[in-house]
Amino acid sequence: RKYVYLFNEGSAEMRDLLGGKGAGLAEMTSLGLPVPPGFTITTEACNEYSNERKELPAGLEEQIEDALRSLEKKVGKTLGDLKNPLLLSVRSGARISMPGMMDTVLNLGLNDKTVQALAAATGNERFALDCYRRFIQMFSDIVLYVEFNRFEEVLEKFKARFRVQYDHKLQPEHLKEIIAEYKEIVRSRTRSDFPQDPMNQLKKAVMAVFESWNNPRAKVYRRLNKIPDDLGTAVNVQVMVFGNMGENSGTGVAFTRDPATGENVLFGEYLINAQGEDVVAGIRTPQPISKLQEEMPEAYDQFQKTCSLLEKHYRDLQDIEFTVEEGKLYILQTRSGKRTATAAVKAAVDMVKEGLISKEEAVLRVDPDQLNQVLHKRLDTKVQFQVLATGLPASPGAASGMITFDANEAERLGEDGEKVILVRLETTPDDIHGLVMAQGVLTSRGGMTSHAAVVARGMGKPCVCGCEALNIDYKEKKITVGEQEIKEGELITIDGSTGQVILGEVPLVSPELGEELQRLLTWADEIRRLGVFTNADTPADVRRAREFGAEGVGLCRTEHMFMAQDRLPIAQAMIMAKTQEERDEALEKLLPMQQEDFYGILKAMDGLPTTIRLLDPPLHEFLPNIEDLSLEIMKLKLTGGESGEISRLENILRKARALQELNPMLGHRGCRLGITTPEIYAMQVRAIVQATAQLKEEGLNPNPEIMIPLVMSIQELKILRELCLEVIQQVEGETGLKLEIPIGTMIELPRACLLADQIGKIADFFSFGTNDLTQTTFGFSRDDAEGKFIPQYIEKKILADNPFAVLDRDGVGKLVKMGVELGRSTNPELVVGICGEHGGDPSSVEFCHSVGLNYVSCSPYRVPIARLAAAQAAL
Ligand code: ADP
Ligand code: MG
Ligand code: MG
Repeated sequence: RKYVYLFNEGSAEMRDLLGGKGAGLAEMTSLGLPVPPGFTITTEACNEYSNERKELPAGLEEQIEDALRSLEKKVGKTLGDLKNPLLLSVRSGARISMPGMMDTVLNLGLNDKTVQALAAATGNERFALDCYRRFIQMFSDIVLYVEFNRFEEVLEKFKARFRVQYDHKLQPEHLKEIIAEYKEIVRSRTRSDFPQDPMNQLKKAVMAVFESWNNPRAKVYRRLNKIPDDLGTAVNVQVMVFGNMGENSGTGVAFTRDPATGENVLFGEYLINAQGEDVVAGIRTPQPISKLQEEMPEAYDQFQKTCSLLEKHYRDLQDIEFTVEEGKLYILQTRSGKRTATAAVKAAVDMVKEGLISKEEAVLRVDPDQLNQVLHKRLDTKVQFQVLATGLPASPGAASGMITFDANEAERLGEDGEKVILVRLETTPDDIHGLVMAQGVLTSRGGMTSHAAVVARGMGKPCVCGCEALNIDYKEKKITVGEQEIKEGELITIDGSTGQVILGEVPLVSPELGEELQRLLTWADEIRRLGVFTNADTPADVRRAREFGAEGVGLCRTEHMFMAQDRLPIAQAMIMAKTQEERDEALEKLLPMQQEDFYGILKAMDGLPTTIRLLDPPLHEFLPNIEDLSLEIMKLKLTGGESGEISRLENILRKARALQELNPMLGHRGCRLGITTPEIYAMQVRAIVQATAQLKEEGLNPNPEIMIPLVMSIQELKILRELCLEVIQQVEGETGLKLEIPIGTMIELPRACLLADQIGKIADFFSFGTNDLTQTTFGFSRDDAEGKFIPQYIEKKILADNPFAVLDRDGVGKLVKMGVELGRSTNPELVVGICGEHGGDPSSVEFCHSVGLNYVSCSPYRVPIARLAAAQAAL
């Protein structure tokens, strides 16, 4: 079996086998770009290594040796040679890019002898020692598992002793001392000398990269990004080129367009006399790429041409790594660049204008989930605030929270529901879990391509980085800015769109759709077949959703209308009523209030369908909590409270006890209330119909639809449908208007899906209530399952996703499909939608498209997401 491919044997199509980096290096090699030669060990080899008790698959070593010989021939240097030693980089690279998650070893092949040979061959001793110093540090960290920080401490110590601020200023004498101490660390930690045999170094490094596929941070990253664990990583072994050879060498990264805004300008950073990760690690603050034009005009010119060539070739925004060795440019990596949603949208729309991609491709280029970010909050500019300091605007959006200096602490507080901003000198992949739980991240070091910036953009969280005015002191847990001191736990606000850092909390304002996004969504609308409705309970929500492009209301819940402060006592009186008269009296009072609610919503949705669900929750939800109530009664009794009040509360308590249910989710709720207490539904229907009549008389075009929840049989629906029709006819008689109001049902019980052919006969529409349908299909109570055992189920791979977030196609989906087919079998005109939370989840939207629903309905902020997802489903 072939495990090793030279760069000139591979291509972009071989991504699965060669990993993204390897496929990119191969493709660039065949494009004739200046890529240092090398070879790729396949992902298959990695998987076999992991499966076969951590042994290299048979034949791999020989193939590596053959490939190495061919590299050596190509560049005229030999690994371990004492005249002209070849140095290698050993780089990880999975199929899906996982920036910074796995390991890379540079300068491999150095030992006590070859380092001298390198110094002699280049006439640059400082450079050779710098490489050796770096190599011992990286190799020990990644292959020998000696902590990186042990070496960093030594480096810092010597820098202080020799009074040098930056490591590129260290002189050969300094480096020799550092190397000696590094080797001492290795000896004491591993009980043997630093490995001197280059071929052995290579073998070990390859195995370590295989191992890095399963390091903890790579696993976390895969879990967060839903990347399968069994893809494996490829290993790229490549001839080293050196950015640390002096003042006319350097290394950098650049994006072909601005990854924060999408603007079509080269965007990047570089460092002179540096190597590898120096740029992203925030060791020195890098220079903007435009400066390279002044410092190395020729290399810059060539780089710019290469960037535009690669962008045209891949027809997408590229993230490119390069190194300049003594004025000569080398390209070390290209990949599709991570970008904010704003940038994704702008780049996609611009590329259509530039004729680079089609509208359909543009629609596919933007991840619908990522759109959440564009819909991010901004600082309210109407409010006065004082800017404490300004850093780099690394990931847009604004957020406030308590200052936290530690990722573990951020995670802990975040899990407790606190809002925190993670503040660090810089972040590393070990901080990921803290970033996940933080509202945003603020660093004092590092540029736009630093770890914090890249990860925050990926997560859609605000990030301000390189805010050098902040003096962060982890020990004292404080930040000093000039004279001012700010402590851990204090509130700050960051704005990742401007880089501003503000002390205290600044009010945030909601977003609007920008011009480019509007354009992209218009294209999506032309492509999609699914309708996109919204779940909205108030006129304000309805208006917002319309601005975002909603074509109707798929679910208007009515329970909150009973919960409002001025209504709750009336609702309670209605529930407590002992006689029919008492109940009618309370309902009489609720009627005009409900009518006003519906008037507002129908007016805001004028001209578009508005599905109103009749009361759904069990009645005891409107009564006070039994324990609280008992306590209050007790208190009143002890303090000699008024007896009238006491007996009033005791009455409520008695009723609340009587209504108490062991399992309210499966209890006396939904249409079961309508069957046992028809007056409530009759009142609600009257309110809907009267509001409709009122609007018609005003010349508007209201389109209400009445939806009956939790139906499990045609008999239930028949009774309640008749009740509705009766009220509609009454109001028609009273107003002389003719009102067409469709009556349908929610499908949220398995039995309703099984009997959908019967139910469909008398329903004008179905709306799948997939929240309840998921609960009842799984037999999971959502409130108990999500926090308690679903996370473990996902970890143990019993479930792929939380079924309350992503529709379970296997089970719930099967019921939905059956419901649609059975329903339409007896009623071909049946309109079918979905109104569970799933309506705004892109993968669920795709499913809804595939089973032929008419529309999805989701919360207003997810309407643009659903529009895009629906278009993608149709492509
Ligand atoms: P990652 O996957 O984390 O980006 P890379 O394999 O790209 O890791 O390596 C990190 C950095 O090491 C590169 O950005 C580059 O600066 C440096 N590097 C890798 N290979 C070489 C090489 N052959 N010559 C010089 N520098 C290299
Ligand atoms: Mg890289
Ligand atoms: Mg429900």
